[in-house]
Amino acid sequence: MKSFDGKKAEALLASLGEEITVKRAYPLSQCSTFRIGGEAALAVWPRTEGALCRLLSLCRENGWYHTVIGNGSNVLFDDAGFDGAVLFTSALADITFDGTAVTASCGVPVTRLAAVAAEKGLAGLSFAYGIPGTVGGAVYMNAGAYGGEIGNAVESVFYYDGRTGETGSYTAGECRFGYRGSAFQEEDKTVLAATLRLKEGDPAAIREEMEDCMRSRKEKQPLEYPSAGSVFRRCPGYYTGKLIEDAGLKGTAVGGAQVSLKHAGFIVNRGNATAADVRELISTVRETVKSRYGLTLECEVRYIPATPAKKEL
Ligand SMILES: Cc1cc2nc3c(=O)[nH]c(=O)nc-3n(C[C@H](O)[C@H](O)[C@H](O)COP(=O)(O)OP(=O)(O)OC[C@H]3O[C@@H](n4cnc5c(N)ncnc54)[C@H](O)[C@@H]3O)c2cc1C
Repeated sequence: MKSFDGKKAEALLASLGEEITVKRAYPLSQCSTFRIGGEAALAVWPRTEGALCRLLSLCRENGWYHTVIGNGSNVLFDDAGFDGAVLFTSALADITFDGTAVTASCGVPVTRLAAVAAEKGLAGLSFAYGIPGTVGGAVYMNAGAYGGEIGNAVESVFYYDGRTGETGSYTAGECRFGYRGSAFQEEDKTVLAATLRLKEGDPAAIREEMEDCMRSRKEKQPLEYPSAGSVFRRCPGYYTGKLIEDAGLKGTAVGGAQVSLKHAGFIVNRGNATAADVRELISTVRETVKSRYGLTLECEVRYIPATPAKKEL
């Protein structure tokens, strides 16, 4: 495949002027909670939803390899970086309320959204308080915790369709939310914004529920190390972390990557882990769990390959 020409792409992006920030050879390790990844040929931060759409159209028209990233809290970037354009949504941070409905741009951190909603006496997002993702990433993943899932609150999602180059919207049903899954994982659609339907509640009680969730995270999760949260999906009928622990894998390390001593469902970066370390450790965990229990662990973390060649974790 022809290598991506970052210089030429940057020149084409100049038409977007002040609406975007562009950086070449940008270290992806700075943009993932794993703190892992080589350089992106091009990293772009659109400031408006319109600019994100125009960027996506440019990628589409020019056949550029590209990906959209929120907070990078559920991704493993490759050590070779990304030979294309990485579009970051962190500058898209609008939140508007209309009664018990709230519409948030894709780059809004869900923890912030939960906090702002709570201040207004709107309940339904306490479970998300502490999830280090954005609205776009949470909708894509159907992020959930403590019995809640973002999909349960979604009323509609406004998207850009990479197949047609048009924008459109999905009802909650059309989003096909399932356990850590949504239609967005199967279709070439970028989440631009989501409208969530919340419930009226007592701000102090909501705050307390949120703090309970945060306390539990701090107690159980190895937040002192970079990670991407739980690496594997839930194995029906089992606690995946417990399975990994019972298989004797707690503390197992490859290079700088280690199965967390605090929560075996997490792989942590002990300082200088590479994506290759993490991938090898994932293989070790899977093979051991398979041979011991006959169970196949599936990855929740999304691997972002350096080139379009399809490589799954
Ligand atoms: C310490 C820690 C704790 C965590 N706890 C939880 C938890 O309790 N529950 C849980 O579900 N997850 C948890 N996670 C994982 C992660 O935070 C969630 O999956 C989160 O929803 C990812 O959001 P993000 O913005 O970081 O997405 P990213 O990591 O940036 O992206 C994830 C995927 O979504 C895609 N994506 C991002 N934005 C968009 C968009 N606008 N449109 C289309 N696709 C998009 C990306 O291309 C990628 O494939 C945890 C992670 C960490 C590090």
